[in-house]
Amino acid sequence: MEATYKTANGRLMIKVEAESQKDLFKQIAQAQDVFDAQGACGECESASIRLRVRHHEKGDYYEMVCNACGAQFSFGQHKTGGTLFPKHELGWKIYKAGEEGQF
Ligand SMILES: [Zn+2]
Repeated sequence: MEATYKTANGRLMIKVEAESQKDLFKQIAQAQDVFDAQGACGECESASIRLRVRHHEKGDYYEMVCNACGAQFSFGQHKTGGTLFPKHELGWKIYKAGEEGQF
């Protein structure tokens, strides 16, 4: 079976294919966890946020970035499975120049 999930902000359609209802549930849950992690910036409340990947010598950093104030929300990476998880404990942060990527 397959399903198309539309993110809460309506900007993204995610197509998932699954072998069972449980698998479908799991995949949609994972998509919601990441792509619906934040609907607006935690600093200035702007809904104008985008996804960004920064390449660093230690690896890539996955984050949401606010187009209005530049705050960022970080995602961690599971060691296997190629999935991400939102770092709610860090929340949104505005990093000063040179500070980025030190967490
Ligand atoms: Zn902001």
